[in-house]
Amino acid sequence: MDTASENCSVKVAVHVRPLIGDERAQGCKECVAVTHGNPQVQIGTHSFTFDHVYGNGGSPSSAMFGECVAPLVDGLFQGYNATVLAYGQTGSGKTYTMGTGLREGFQTGLIPQVMNALFNKIETLRHQMEFQLHVSFIEILKEEVRDLLDSVSVSKSVTANGHAGKVSISGRPPIQIRESSNGVITLAGSTEVAVNTLQEMAACLEQGSLSRATGSTNMNNQSSRSHAIFTITLEQMRKLHSVSPDNGTPDEDMDEEYFCAKLHLVDLAGSERAKRTGSDGLRLKEGIHINRGLLALGNVISALGDEKKRREGVHVPYRDSKLTRLLQDSLGGNSKTVMIACISPADINAEESLNTLKYANRARNIQNKPVVNRDLISSDMQKLRQQLKYLQAELCARAGGAPSDEVQVLKGRIAWLEATNEDLCQELHEYRSRRAVVEHCGTDAQEGPVSFVKSDGLKRGFQSIDSSDYQMDEAVSDGNSSEIEEVAKEWEHALWQNTMDKELNELNKRLEQKESEMKLFGDIDTEALRHHFGKKIMELEEEKRIVQQERDRLLAEIENLAANSDGHTQKMQDGHTLKLKALEAQILELKKKQESQVELLKQKHKSDEAAKRLQAEIQSIKAQKVQLQNKIKQEAEQFRQWKASREKELLKLKKEGRKNEFERHKLEALNQRQKMVLQRKTEEAAIATKRLKELLEARKSSARENSVNSTGYTTPTGQSNEKSLQKWLEHELEVSANVHEVRFKYEKQSQVQAALADELTILKQVDQLSLNGHSPQRGKNGHSRLSSLSPNARMERIASLENMLNMSSKALVEMASQLSEAEERERALVGRGRWNHLRFMGDAKNLLQYMFNVAAETRFQLWEKDTEIKEIKEQLNDLVALLKQSEAQRKELVKQQRMREQAVTIALASSASMT
Ligand code: ADP
Ligand code: MG
Repeated sequence: MDTASENCSVKVAVHVRPLIGDERAQGCKECVAVTHGNPQVQIGTHSFTFDHVYGNGGSPSSAMFGECVAPLVDGLFQGYNATVLAYGQTGSGKTYTMGTGLREGFQTGLIPQVMNALFNKIETLRHQMEFQLHVSFIEILKEEVRDLLDSVSVSKSVTANGHAGKVSISGRPPIQIRESSNGVITLAGSTEVAVNTLQEMAACLEQGSLSRATGSTNMNNQSSRSHAIFTITLEQMRKLHSVSPDNGTPDEDMDEEYFCAKLHLVDLAGSERAKRTGSDGLRLKEGIHINRGLLALGNVISALGDEKKRREGVHVPYRDSKLTRLLQDSLGGNSKTVMIACISPADINAEESLNTLKYANRARNIQNKPVVNRDLISSDMQKLRQQLKYLQAELCARAGGAPSDEVQVLKGRIAWLEATNEDLCQELHEYRSRRAVVEHCGTDAQEGPVSFVKSDGLKRGFQSIDSSDYQMDEAVSDGNSSEIEEVAKEWEHALWQNTMDKELNELNKRLEQKESEMKLFGDIDTEALRHHFGKKIMELEEEKRIVQQERDRLLAEIENLAANSDGHTQKMQDGHTLKLKALEAQILELKKKQESQVELLKQKHKSDEAAKRLQAEIQSIKAQKVQLQNKIKQEAEQFRQWKASREKELLKLKKEGRKNEFERHKLEALNQRQKMVLQRKTEEAAIATKRLKELLEARKSSARENSVNSTGYTTPTGQSNEKSLQKWLEHELEVSANVHEVRFKYEKQSQVQAALADELTILKQVDQLSLNGHSPQRGKNGHSRLSSLSPNARMERIASLENMLNMSSKALVEMASQLSEAEERERALVGRGRWNHLRFMGDAKNLLQYMFNVAAETRFQLWEKDTEIKEIKEQLNDLVALLKQSEAQRKELVKQQRMREQAVTIALASSASMT
């Protein structure tokens, strides 16, 4: 069991993450296809097979831990080292997958799941074994190892402007990688924290992640250039109870087995190559430097992954970088290793995704030889113990029959062995306690004050929406609402008018009534009436007085007569009496008449008053009427004005409608033109790509020929060899130029795509907003044109953009595929690799001469072209000046024309007024 070793290749899983917000916003399409039910990934025409594929139609990501990592955790308990590597370009989901980010994947990432599984297993085994766990968390940035669990160095490096400089602050020696005599790699000077609980281990992960984040000025920048390695060391002491069959008193101390195994969990730096087209060479340099680890890792993988090289025992360049030195055991060594290749499904990342898949595919070929790790001292001890037991058994067997001096010798030997054993035990003990002290110190340092700087992270909200482009929306919703408003207003106006008319009618009616009432009075001349009545009364008074006089005279006559009463007198008296009576009646009547006249007068007075009141009422009604009429007039005027302004607006809108129509036509033309241009460009790109493909394929076959040539023998006729070498060089140069061209087109194409996607996003937002009835805001950066489009035009534009995006996406993936292929070939030729088949100085000199000629020729051509360009530029300048001049002339002419027109109108007007 001691040398339980097995061959096992590095397992490789692919994790395809979903499209993320940024990519969606850029209008990216998915270009990664996962074969259903098979661990197969396809990009364009390339297809790869792996051990597992997760996400994007493959197995669910949640199955990753169980299938890839859980067996490694189990292996730890059997003493096998293990490594999990997350590889991929920045943003492909490495940190998410590992769970070393602070925000995301902290629950679902692999490391948290490893920790859970580890402690669960320890819980079930606790009664049989003793466990000791340690964790370390380091980061390799620019070939410097930084301790993420050392609060001192971390806080120092934070204050040092985030630059993870030398970790040698506060007297600590820098962390160094050491290799012990038995080939075990250790990190001297890094913090190893002893942990007992899940919570403690989680705290370490969190602290390390935090210091990784805060230790960099630009988190994304730095974490994408550094490798983070979280290492869990598991030590076990197994108690074996069953051994000592003879005396049944098992000696605890004698039956122990010690295992120690490490699990590296690695979040590698972003695998993307530094941008070639970047104008600053500095960045490129730095990029190469920073990615030294990955470069070396790639070379190690190549060396290990190529079966032929492996058989030939080719040197594996572990020592080229800190990363590969640290992972030496994990790659081709004593470890079970899983690589998780993370890729983005977006078309713009197709090239990097392809590179990642190729890299990961090579890693599959690496064979590791994991062995169980037992403590050396402990196995020595075990041997001694075995020997002791054997001797004791022998002693027992010989007891009695054996010569006493032999027994004596054996006893002496036993004593010696026991003493040695004791010594060794002592030593072991000492080692352990010393280590405990060191650990304790480490933990103490650990418990020092840690400054946490929580970085909030960017909140990407809707602020990023281009606020410019909602204007259309406003026009639309405004149009709608104002139409409604207009109808409402007209209706309201009609209603109001109606009520006003009614009111006016009412007033008029009342006025009429009052006036007719008044007429009753108005017909009679009251003064005359009074006069008349007064006169009548006077007359009556006079008459009455006369009648009374008559009566009085008659009465006196009667008395007279009564005194000289005789028949005649009697008769006269009777006549008088009669007359008197008639007079009396007359008087009475007159009195009555007078009374009735007085009554009439009174009545007249009363009615006068009523008339006056009526008059006042009429006055007030008239005033009301005037007021009302004024009001109506005013309102009508207002309404007229409003109507006029509406009409004006309507006219303007109609005009705008025409303008929109015009815009639409223009847009259509633009759509068409852009599409044509894009089509032409993609066709050109396709041609270049095809040419590159042909060249690459041709080179593949010629390389084969070459290798045959060089390993076999060169052609005896130097002449033809020279020609073939020249041809080969030409070919090489053409490939290089072609790669350059395709890459240039690729960059251009991705810029075009980004611009198209940008516009599409904005249009979609405008669309959404107008659907929701939001009012858009005015544009601020030239996108106002987009927001002023009519809904139809917008739809058309969106469809056209999507169409173009599809086209562009296909072209991009095609180019990426060939570029990645070229990259692959290039890798084999770096440095002197290109010239490997040049065996003779003569050949080399000839070729050099040829190259010199080519270079000189090229320079000359370049010079010619430069001169030509200069000339053309001069011509252009002349033309521009000419254009400017003629433009000025045109303006002048237009001005003159306008003035002349004005003069004519004035003349016409004055002549018209004369006649
Ligand atoms: P890397 O570490 O490779 O640079 P990250 O892990 O930081 O990449 O992931 C980049 C972005 O992609 C993050 O916003 C993350 O939330 C998201 N992401 C990565 N993988 C997934 C996934 N499997 N599911 C959902 N989102 C993911
Ligand atoms: Mg990351």
